[in-house]
Amino acid sequence: MMAVVRLGWQRDGLCREYPSLPWIESPRGGSTTATLDQMRSICARCLVYAECRSYAASFGSVPTSGMLAGMTTAVPRRAPRSP
Ligand code: SF4
Repeated sequence: MMAVVRLGWQRDGLCREYPSLPWIESPRGGSTTATLDQMRSICARCLVYAECRSYAASFGSVPTSGMLAGMTTAVPRRAPRSP
């Protein structure tokens, strides 16, 4: 079993209020489009989105299923530039 190290900002993640959804640490996969849309909506309202997006960008790719900062398993190496 993989140990989960929680960073300080993660305590404020809105996803913590929705533990039944398959977030990045979840062993559950097979999210439906509706579930992913719901999760993206939650991420869009999250107060620590910027921190989470930077964290996600530190991965070359995420070797598991789930969502992090509104992105599914193929997390880009860098966050996109702001317009
Ligand atoms: S942006 Fe999404 S995945 Fe990241 S902490 Fe917030 S709710 Fe969780």
